[in-house]
Amino acid sequence: SDRPALPVGAADRRQTRCVKVNWGANHVLVGGGAPVVVQSMTNTDTENAIETALQVKDLAQAGSELVRITVNTPAAAKEVPAIREQLDRMNIDVPLVGDFHYNGHKLLTEYPECAQALSKYRINPGNMGGGKRRDDNFAQMIEVACKYNKPVRIGVNWGSLDHELMAKMMDQNAQRHRPWEAQAVMREALVVSAISNAQRAEQLGLPGDAIILSCKVSHVQDLITVYQDLSSRCDYPLHLGLTEAGMGSKGIVASTAALSVLLQQGIGDTIRISLTPEPGGDRRQEVVVAQEILQTMGLRAFTPMVVACPGCGRTSSTVFQELANDIQAYLREQMPVWRYQYPGVETMNVAVMGCVVNGPGESRHADIGISLPGTGETPAAPVYVDGERIVTLKGDTIAQEFQKIVLDYVQK
Ligand code: SF4
Repeated sequence: SDRPALPVGAADRRQTRCVKVNWGANHVLVGGGAPVVVQSMTNTDTENAIETALQVKDLAQAGSELVRITVNTPAAAKEVPAIREQLDRMNIDVPLVGDFHYNGHKLLTEYPECAQALSKYRINPGNMGGGKRRDDNFAQMIEVACKYNKPVRIGVNWGSLDHELMAKMMDQNAQRHRPWEAQAVMREALVVSAISNAQRAEQLGLPGDAIILSCKVSHVQDLITVYQDLSSRCDYPLHLGLTEAGMGSKGIVASTAALSVLLQQGIGDTIRISLTPEPGGDRRQEVVVAQEILQTMGLRAFTPMVVACPGCGRTSSTVFQELANDIQAYLREQMPVWRYQYPGVETMNVAVMGCVVNGPGESRHADIGISLPGTGETPAAPVYVDGERIVTLKGDTIAQEFQKIVLDYVQK
């Protein structure tokens, strides 16, 4: 309640421990005031090492700073070192995170090369059996993490919450039988499960700065409440994500709504956007959405932003929409190289506007802007660089000439 109304920026981030996730010379910091880390997960069969390595490469080149792969079978565990080797050969040093459920204790102990090739383990305490067996399996995984000096994420999920804990908490709250009260008990069970398992991991010898927590649910309001609660009760770094967010615009909107509220409150040290891809869809979309959430909130910058008006009855042709699309795609395609060649380019703003109404004003506010001619206007497109009108483009080559001006600006 004593937070400022608009807590944006590093100073307002919740203070958390700093967890290092390493591979080779690459050290990704999660928490401790480090920039919010973008991560993603493959959807290939891990037993197919080539296909998985190629998808990890695509995700990493799109900007995913950690990539998680499922490790669900002995054959998949056997392939993990081969995946790592393929990536190393391609000079992709993104840390790999192994996602374990049910048999993680066996796979990590029986396949030590897999345990070493991974940079972090995701453990779901709800999927490890019950009673003593659950405790033993958990201890076994933590023992491996300690042995190889790997951090873990204790990832609790609404859909696989520890049954025993849930039953116990429902019993303790038997008088709270209304649907919203039962929902509150479930939210509390998620938080209790995450924190109590983290404490147990520390008791088993895992350093406190090797633990990241997550409590994923699929409804926006529940997610916000759970993470606010979790963040007020511990200082482990938090992995944010709305699980099973859904397809297309629904998944993007729901994830953005939930994560933006939390990030604005300084909560969250790494994010993953779980989108259900269209058949044959591009997995990299989840990386793009994660980056755009962070960049539009002013928390990080990844790629130059294109400001474009929506267009209206004044827009005289499709040149304007095509130019906005082309420039955005061009900038994004260049970034894997530009990031290294031209540090700082990611903060550049480009405006592509449809007519004189808001065109010149918005273009002057951008680093580079173009105001295309609307209906009834002179067929000419003034271009602004650093607020000054430098040229007016005409004819059929406006798009190419403008792209050249953008490239010249970046190179300068
Ligand atoms: Fe319409 Fe012009 Fe505004 Fe674009 S800038 S939305 S074309 S009035």
